[in-house]
Amino acid sequence: MNIYANYNLLQHNTFHFPVSARFFIEVRHASAIPTLRQDPVISSLPWQVIGGGSNLVLTQDLDAVVIHCIYDEIKLLKEDHGSVWLSVGAGCPWHNLVTYTVDHGWWGLENLALIPGTVGAAPVQNIGAYGAEVQDTITRVQSFDLRDGRRVELRKSECGFSYRNSIFKQSLANRVLIHRVTFRLRKHATPNLMHEPLHEALIKKYDTIEQITPRQIYDEVIILRNQRIPDPKILGSAGSFFKNPSISSTHYQTLIAQHPNMPSHKTPDGQIKIPAAWLIEQAQWKGKRISDAGVHVNHALILVNYGSATGKNLLELADKIRDDVINQFSIALEKEVVVI
Ligand SMILES: Cc1cc2nc3c(=O)[nH]c(=O)nc-3n(C[C@H](O)[C@H](O)[C@H](O)COP(=O)(O)OP(=O)(O)OC[C@H]3O[C@@H](n4cnc5c(N)ncnc54)[C@H](O)[C@@H]3O)c2cc1C
Repeated sequence: MNIYANYNLLQHNTFHFPVSARFFIEVRHASAIPTLRQDPVISSLPWQVIGGGSNLVLTQDLDAVVIHCIYDEIKLLKEDHGSVWLSVGAGCPWHNLVTYTVDHGWWGLENLALIPGTVGAAPVQNIGAYGAEVQDTITRVQSFDLRDGRRVELRKSECGFSYRNSIFKQSLANRVLIHRVTFRLRKHATPNLMHEPLHEALIKKYDTIEQITPRQIYDEVIILRNQRIPDPKILGSAGSFFKNPSISSTHYQTLIAQHPNMPSHKTPDGQIKIPAAWLIEQAQWKGKRISDAGVHVNHALILVNYGSATGKNLLELADKIRDDVINQFSIALEKEVVVI
């Protein structure tokens, strides 16, 4: 366990906000929690869990204890003729895990290549991209209760996974520190080409779908992401700032009559999902900036820090965008990022 006081979080959030934490503590084992709880100062402060800081908007210095899991081991738990089960430490960088599985030819994580952040945060918002969600491969999540270090183990069915959401983003937020995640990966599978641009790109290169390997999907996803998404090391962002909203079919009928080109798709619960990027673009926000807080020129869903913006500046910009979208479409955009 490493403890740092008055610690600058600049390197720990992809918006690059230079806010500080009263204490920053790197934890490897459950036993660290009861030990920390015995310290009267550390115990009296609020505790905040962070991973790689790639889904965070930090709005102020944190008079808090920031807990960061550094356990990063990848362990093969078991294997049969069709599957492998891996238990992976929360501190492992997400993309390193995806690369490891693709190097072994295993199926399941290839569509999720290049998402920033850590394995421990992946279940929190049930990360997803290119037609896949991490809940498709997770079998269990092991965590520590932050009050006493007690182990809390949840099966997938208990994690409350839904679109960019889970129990860890709701009732268990900052109550548990995810320590390990177990994934089931397949040795043989059909490629997941539900995402149209990925399908198109791969079908141009390979004659039949049967020829396609996890490595080829992984490589193509990296190409597509690099074309569309700004590198947060160069331009600060947290990826998609808002979730894609779902509306009722009645609301949809009204809007499609006014906007015949509005993209949409049906969700399993009968709602209609509209791309937030399209709504923001229609509201004339794509490429605009207020001082150093801006909307990316190529991707309207990505809000960026051009240099000296603060978390509050980003939230002010987000509020203006939200208001304009409500006025134009009667749709209230919900933030995907976690605001602290
Ligand atoms: C350029 C860019 C592209 C992105 N693309 C995608 C994408 O395609 N799909 C997608 O879903 N997301 C995407 N994101 C968002 C982000 O990468 C993910 O949400 C990621 O899982 C966050 O991981 P993190 O370790 O950085 O978590 P953080 O940002 O540090 O934390 C996020 C939340 O998880 C909690 N948390 C973190 N670690 C733990 C833990 N060990 N135990 C308990 N709670 C924890 C935090 O308290 C916080 O509430 C993108 C972000 C960027 C910057």
